Amino acid sequence: MAVTAALVVGPDRNGRSVAIDGGRVVAEAPKGAARLACGDGEIVPGAVCAHTHLYSGLVRYGLPPPDPPPRSFPEILQSVWWRLDRALDEASLAAAARDHAARALLAGVTTLVDHHESPNLIEDSLPLVVEACAGLGVRALVAYGATERNFGRNEARRGLEACRRVAPSPLVRGLVGLHASFTVSDETIRDAGALARELGTVVHVHVAEDRADVDDARRRGWAGPLERLTALDALPRGSILAHGVHCSAEAVRRAGDAGAWFVHNPRSNESNRVGYAATLSATGRVALGTDGFDPDMGAEEAALRRLAAENGDTRIDGRLAAGHGLVAERFDAAAEPLAPGSLGDCVVRRDDAVVHVVVDGRVVVEGGRLVTGDAERIFALAREQAAGLWARMAELH
Ligand SMILES: [Zn+2]
Repeated sequence: MAVTAALVVGPDRNGRSVAIDGGRVVAEAPKGAARLACGDGEIVPGAVCAHTHLYSGLVRYGLPPPDPPPRSFPEILQSVWWRLDRALDEASLAAAARDHAARALLAGVTTLVDHHESPNLIEDSLPLVVEACAGLGVRALVAYGATERNFGRNEARRGLEACRRVAPSPLVRGLVGLHASFTVSDETIRDAGALARELGTVVHVHVAEDRADVDDARRRGWAGPLERLTALDALPRGSILAHGVHCSAEAVRRAGDAGAWFVHNPRSNESNRVGYAATLSATGRVALGTDGFDPDMGAEEAALRRLAAENGDTRIDGRLAAGHGLVAERFDAAAEPLAPGSLGDCVVRRDDAVVHVVVDGRVVVEGGRLVTGDAERIFALAREQAAGLWARMAELH
């Protein structure tokens, strides 16, 4: 793949410029670098959404409410998400992923950490997700969430193989995904850890999102899902644990010390009524995700502040910024955004508005408009695909 040409962003209203060459921020721009003017805007780091689901990108186009209404988190999974993921086909997945990626860029998100499941498209799904992200120019960490909940062990093997096939590129890294402890056997958990080590990557998994995951691990004889994943050697340093709502503070602290990242998803946790992730403050390694909600990290951070205040949690600072450290580990880049050696990603804002977005030294949003695709067409196609998806979902039980 062609390396993007050198670019100088700025100077901004503070007199700051950021030079990018070969996809990394550099101290000094090479001669002849292109220039992106900032006017009275301000250069800031791009936002990282550290846990999301691009496959749910069509939900905004009128997902029909489940009937009867789910009474618990396992029922929400059964009646909504595990029907939606089975109803996905190639066209609806591509439309969902492009819609979500476009909205992320327009909201100033430069990296999406995606966790994907579509049991009828296991082999074909990640290439579509990668194409949507790389095509529109958003950085992405992608994984297929291996599970045994539909077709057993063979389904999990295929999910892990799908992760293996993701080729690294300037914008994309593959991770090894597991759905969650409660839908996989010990063998699959061990296989995921071994594959991540073989590939030099990490595992991305939902952990203790709801009490049901803890109850399942206890029935299997473990103290909890995090303890199970750790004991079965599935969490190489840098692994990404989404939620952790029902992890003990001690387990969170130990996992953080062992190099794991937790991802807090406050809006999703509130909406699913699974509880507030109070024990995450036992480690500093906590990033922020949307879990498939609209990719507006400002809205997610506002929800975090509101819910933290309601729950008396005073140790939440730096979660949005922590995502840079998580992503930098996967790209062998400097963790401090905008510093030399960091990823060549930045955003120019004017007041609250996103003016320009640069990812890997490529201008992907200019003057508030997506330049890598026709946003209106992407949104219209997504709306069109949504109607078919709801119809297919209605036929599934
Ligand atoms: Zn999730």
